[in-house]
Amino acid sequence: MINLSTFVEELPRVGVAYAKKLKKFGIKTVQDLLFYFPQRYDDFSEIISIKEARGRLKDVVCVQGVITQIENTRTHKKWMAMTEATVQDNSGEIKIIWFNQPYIAKSLKEDDFVCLAGKVALYKEGVYLNSPAYERINEIGENEALTHTGRIVPVYAETRGVTSKWLRYIIKPLLYRFAEQVPESLPPEIMKKYKFLPVNEALWQLHFPESFEAADAAKSRFSFEELFLIQLNVLKEKAKLQLKKAPACPMDADTMKRFTDSLPFKLTDSQKKCAFAILKDLEKSVPMSRLLEGDVGSGKTVVAAMAALSVVKNGHQVAFMAPTEILAKQHFKTVSEILKDFNVTVGMMTGKDARIFRNGETFEVSKKSFNADLEFDQINIAIGTHSLIQKGVEFSKLGLVILDEQHRFGVEQRDHLIKGKRLVPHLLSMTATPIPRTLALTVYGDLDLSLIDEMPKNRKKVKTVVVEPNQRKQAYDFIKKEVAEGKGVFVIYPKIESQASKLKEAMAKHGPITGSATESFIPQNYNSNSLSSLAINEVKALKEEYEKLSKEVFPDLRITMLHGKMKAPEKERIMLDFKKGEIDILLSTSVVEVGVDVPRATIMMIEGAERFGLSQLHQFRGRVGRNDMQSYCFLFTTDPSMLNRKRLKALVESNNGFELAQKDLEIRGPGSLYGTQQWGLPDMAMQGLSNIFLVEKTRAAAKEILEKDSTLEKYPNLKERLKQFEKRIHFE
Ligand code: ADP
Ligand code: MG
Repeated sequence: MINLSTFVEELPRVGVAYAKKLKKFGIKTVQDLLFYFPQRYDDFSEIISIKEARGRLKDVVCVQGVITQIENTRTHKKWMAMTEATVQDNSGEIKIIWFNQPYIAKSLKEDDFVCLAGKVALYKEGVYLNSPAYERINEIGENEALTHTGRIVPVYAETRGVTSKWLRYIIKPLLYRFAEQVPESLPPEIMKKYKFLPVNEALWQLHFPESFEAADAAKSRFSFEELFLIQLNVLKEKAKLQLKKAPACPMDADTMKRFTDSLPFKLTDSQKKCAFAILKDLEKSVPMSRLLEGDVGSGKTVVAAMAALSVVKNGHQVAFMAPTEILAKQHFKTVSEILKDFNVTVGMMTGKDARIFRNGETFEVSKKSFNADLEFDQINIAIGTHSLIQKGVEFSKLGLVILDEQHRFGVEQRDHLIKGKRLVPHLLSMTATPIPRTLALTVYGDLDLSLIDEMPKNRKKVKTVVVEPNQRKQAYDFIKKEVAEGKGVFVIYPKIESQASKLKEAMAKHGPITGSATESFIPQNYNSNSLSSLAINEVKALKEEYEKLSKEVFPDLRITMLHGKMKAPEKERIMLDFKKGEIDILLSTSVVEVGVDVPRATIMMIEGAERFGLSQLHQFRGRVGRNDMQSYCFLFTTDPSMLNRKRLKALVESNNGFELAQKDLEIRGPGSLYGTQQWGLPDMAMQGLSNIFLVEKTRAAAKEILEKDSTLEKYPNLKERLKQFEKRIHFE
């Protein structure tokens, strides 16, 4: 017996091959298929007479009639297969042409009644319908049972071999059979309050709506539902954590004062405010979960160091995790330097390296001895990449985890760190990516937020310029002048879409391409399973740019490349050389680029700027202007379309990361935002993310329900749906 949880491969029209394709969309069961929502609709709802259709050249129209003639032919140049037909109703007749679909002449026959939807076009011999969507009907005037024409027709995200037509053909009978059986998961009080369509009705109206209003009503129900499930998830996680115990670390005001006095600068008010909030959180025996947000260069590291110091002074250890080895090394240097008078042992472990800073000295150690030191509490602050939470690394008294620019760190990861220990560490997550409020409340909804919204006083605003192709030389001359004064230049080169990845995309769309015409299109080293060939091409493109810059543009300057394929020590050496002034221009791909501090760099030059999001460009720009010299950001663009101009102009005009993130959200949609990718949010929730009112409503609703019934025992359908939903979204 087929039911809602039957796997799709067991469905008669699906089978194993299609099931495999559907899996790409996360569709495994009948219920998943019912919840696979259309992305948009084609409005074929108005059926007109053939006579009227003949007069509506270039319009997309829908007609019904009887086929009076149909045959397969070829186009004039005998190249493409063509199916020609004539269809008649009592007002007249019209010619139909389909290209490259010879099977149509097998499925449609003379005297068949059909409903057609397509564009009216003009041909030498007269008016015709160009490649219309079609379906057979029993008689003219029938419109109850229409699926692909003569109605508002759903259009789904497609993949190779899974077309919207096929999906309609599969989904519609399932709706007839199962829509009624889908349990209502929204609590009755919410259904009543918002007057939502019941799930059974909403499913029908979303897939095969009676009107656009009905489709909107269904959509708002599912947007609400998906965001509501996310809110339930984050609030539940938060509540779970509240029940755990963390080491209370009372702050020692004297030590903190001694620390701030020892800094070569004064903390900004924002830094003080954030540090205070964090230190107060650390005093509690409830685990802290706080997100520290501040633009690049706003000085998050010192704030983190204060938190670390407070925890260490209370006899607990700190794990400080950076996204890359370069950054881990930089943090190790910074932290050991600013804490050198506080009797703190700082350790660093990256892929191969392990180092320890103790009593004013840094020395290399083996990984084994590093781990032993950690385990016996001989290291107070351990800095590293993800390798810090790998097997075999054990902290004896972990009190605080600091995450720099990393995505999610769920309760499970914290559990992994403490394995069976009594206390859960506090968590401080830091990011330079401004997170719009809607996102902060959803994806980061379990974290408290602290904001550094002020830059250190000595900073000058970075001058940002969009460089037109004919101004290139001017920009290069300017760069030469700056370098002559001893300043450093970053050049960011966009991740190149290699031919191999283009080919892959084309294959996914159109099927394998064969024949000699395409051979030149396939790179020599192409291998469909090998990602490394993509990387090779990327490096190759970077090398070409390097050749150009070092031979033609700046033959007298010292230019070095940095890319993701390099080994860590090599990257580190290059960064150091750049910092010391032994390299003038550092050319790198966007992949390598995060958070590195090179105060002498004053120019950020970005090639193909249109390929990056505003937030990302803003991040790049933040690499310069880290001192009191005037810095510049040059945006080179090869695509002068209006939309791109508008985006880049926003960057020239605004220096505010939040504003830019909001603009990204408006221009490119929620998919462009940091955090949404990692979560793999479903479509409806994604769309809902642009709507702050909706997000706030769902959060309030989730709170209310959990307050009434924290285990959701009274809402079994909701509980079950949440369980399924949590399986789908993932935490990274
Ligand atoms: P980010 O927030 O991007 O991580 P960092 O912590 O790396 O920023 O700080 C950037 C630079 O600013 C560092 O060189 C740091 O020493 C310096 N800095 C931090 N706070 C201040 C301040 N209040 N006044 C002046 N310079 C500061
Ligand atoms: Mg930083």
